[in-house]
Parts: sequence; structure tokens; C-alpha cells
Amino acid sequence: MNPLEAMRLALATSRAALPECRPNPPVGCVILDATGQVVATGYTRQPGSHHAEAAALARVEGPLAGCHAFVTLEPCSFHGRTPSCARTLVERGIGAVSVAIEDPDPRNSGRGVQILRDAGIPVEVGLLADEVRGFLAPYLLT
Ligand SMILES: [Zn+2]
Repeated sequence: MNPLEAMRLALATSRAALPECRPNPPVGCVILDATGQVVATGYTRQPGSHHAEAAALARVEGPLAGCHAFVTLEPCSFHGRTPSCARTLVERGIGAVSVAIEDPDPRNSGRGVQILRDAGIPVEVGLLADEVRGFLAPYLLT
């Protein structure tokens, strides 16, 4: 599938996060391989368990250099109850990341994207942003 379809699937997947994910925002993640095939999807689980990215990564083994992750919200940069998803994506060697919207949470707010870029990973922000914001906005910390 193409990038827009992948982000649409990530948004659709994220709806399954509610209500168990609260008070965390309902986020979805889709990982495509180099040929555009879906290799994993994930969504935010209950607090203390996997965020969307970690849930998807847990379903994939081996190197992810040719893979592209699509996440509805900027991956978290801070270690809270779970490790930072941005750092986990770096450690797993993801090839590229697309993010629909930046996380306005003051603990994140661009830092997650920066961690990925500092590691040399291409990051695109803004894919399907309006649609994702319409769904996510009520759940975001600002
Ligand atoms: Zn996270």
C-alpha cells in the first residue's frame, strides 16, 4: 500500500485503543516492508503496557532497515512507565518514519522527531494530519 493508505490504516487501527489506553492518547502504528506490504500493526494498550509503536515492533523480528513506520502521533521521547518509543525505533533500526501530527505534550513536543532525525532516520511529519488531529485532539495533553 502507499503511504497515505498506510496512515489511514494506522488511524483506523488506533480506534481499537479506546477506552483501555486512557489516559494515554489512542495512537496507531503500521509498519510496511520495502515492498509496501504490511508487516505489523499496533495500537496503544493500557497504561504501563505497550504504546502503539512498541506493540507493532513486538510483532516483527529481525532488522527493520527496509521498513517504514507510520504513526498517528509523534513517538514519545521520554521514558515514563514504558521506554521511549522514539529510542526503541532507533534501536530496532527502522528505515524511515512518517508521523501524522507532532505531540503537543510539553514532555515531547518535537523531541521524539528530533531523536529519530539525530539517528539519521528520515522523518516526515504531516501525512493525513487534519484527519488524525480531528480524532486525536480531545485526548492530547497540551
Ligand atoms: Zn511511546
